[in-house]
Amino acid sequence: MVNSRLVPLPALSDNYIWVLHNASTAVVIDPGESAVVEQYLEDQGLSLQAILLTHHHADHVGGAVALHQSSGAPVYGPATERLPICHHLLSEGDTVQLPDFDLALDVFDVPGHTAGHIAYYGRPAGSPPVLFCGDTLFAAGCGRLFEGTPKQMLASLGKLAGLPADTLVCCAHEYTVSNLRWALQVEPGNEVLHQRWEAAGRLREQGLPTLPSNIGLELATNPFLRAREPAVAESAARVAGHALESELDVFAQLREWKNNF
Ligand code: ZN
Ligand code: FE
Repeated sequence: MVNSRLVPLPALSDNYIWVLHNASTAVVIDPGESAVVEQYLEDQGLSLQAILLTHHHADHVGGAVALHQSSGAPVYGPATERLPICHHLLSEGDTVQLPDFDLALDVFDVPGHTAGHIAYYGRPAGSPPVLFCGDTLFAAGCGRLFEGTPKQMLASLGKLAGLPADTLVCCAHEYTVSNLRWALQVEPGNEVLHQRWEAAGRLREQGLPTLPSNIGLELATNPFLRAREPAVAESAARVAGHALESELDVFAQLREWKNNF
């Protein structure tokens, strides 16, 4: 079995369109535009087997119709969101079977950024597990709460945080450096966070993606997964100007803080 390749195609202003492929077959996740994907498929001699969508925002679905028309590949997406095209409506517990690709992806409901946001998780041949989480979990951050509550987002992130530590986190934006700049304000004493800041800065200087991340690194550095850490809770309370009683209170304050950072 040829090892899978996982490629983030830069698109739009700061999106990544993920392509997972073997020697002949590809799956694309959140194609906000079609041309960059079509070019990559052509260059690599790949046929597109599936188009996966995580949520309805235009920067994630904008290329889906054109890609379906040029490839014939079916579109998979969240059951409860309005999408420009979707052949397979998915929600938690569903599995996307990709037999030609030797892969099955589990679907999770991860509401918060949007009400119907889903994520895809699977174990490609010759690769650590992969997670396609759209705008839910970012490197050192999480999505803004456009259609959901802090409580929903905390629960959604909790599902993802429970995946194996080596799971590759394939999120849809290059926000890492600005997220880390904020995370260092939240937790200045976190040595792993400082190392990550240096590493991410070096990658961006070379024009390289900082992604994929992995769950273990997020657990160690992402403030939104660390609301129970005393140092994180103390920083959130300082910014709030009052004591915060619960993990959820801390999480909500962190999200508010980041919105205004
Ligand atoms: Zn979005
Ligand atoms: Fe987005």
